[in-house]
Amino acid sequence: MTRPSRAEAPDHFFVPDSLVHSRLTAEHAVYDATVPAGDPWIYQVEKGQILRIVDVEGNQAADTLFYNAYDYEERYSAQDTIREQGNIYLTTGTRLMSNQVRPLLTIVADTCGRHDTLGGACATESNRVRYALDKSHMHACRQSFVKAVLGWGNGFSKRDITHNINFFMNVPVTPEGVLTFEDGVSDAGKYVELRAEMDVIAVISNCPQLNNPCNAYNPTPIRVLIWDPTS
Ligand SMILES: [Zn+2]
Repeated sequence: MTRPSRAEAPDHFFVPDSLVHSRLTAEHAVYDATVPAGDPWIYQVEKGQILRIVDVEGNQAADTLFYNAYDYEERYSAQDTIREQGNIYLTTGTRLMSNQVRPLLTIVADTCGRHDTLGGACATESNRVRYALDKSHMHACRQSFVKAVLGWGNGFSKRDITHNINFFMNVPVTPEGVLTFEDGVSDAGKYVELRAEMDVIAVISNCPQLNNPCNAYNPTPIRVLIWDPTS
């Protein structure tokens, strides 16, 4: 692992201390799929399996939700995750906590270094308010989440969609507490890897947003891989 030290880096250059590479290789994965730009993805990840999300071309936001596979009422909680780790950014070592304060997954490798869980997911309603009335028809993450969970069935519904993680998205918070949506810190081939601490349903909206810099105004594919615990 090589990266500039904090002393060498210019002030504006973000140098995380948490960059950790994985030893897992794609040929041993039990699942390997590409999620096209703008599409949703839903899958069950078993306890102990490793889930990797790859930002294939760079600057792509992967809006993600996690649920207990057998009880959708238990789901990812940004508030519990932030409080338990005492930090607003997600990276290696972060335990993604449920609303019952149990770990759903742990981030075990991360070559990006920072992921957001404050900015929320885009929706047709927020497109209209943030950008323009004529943006309200545009495809948005919330609609992708709804499509994914309705397709999964088993009682999953629109009502289960709550606050999410934005993998690869950069939302720095200023000392005054202001959220700033910035161009991504991610790049082509960067990935985040998570170990499931229980059987979970993972739901990803590969963000189709065209109006803010989270995707560099250009949605691109992501790749999702899963390994068994013995890999
Ligand atoms: Zn989005």
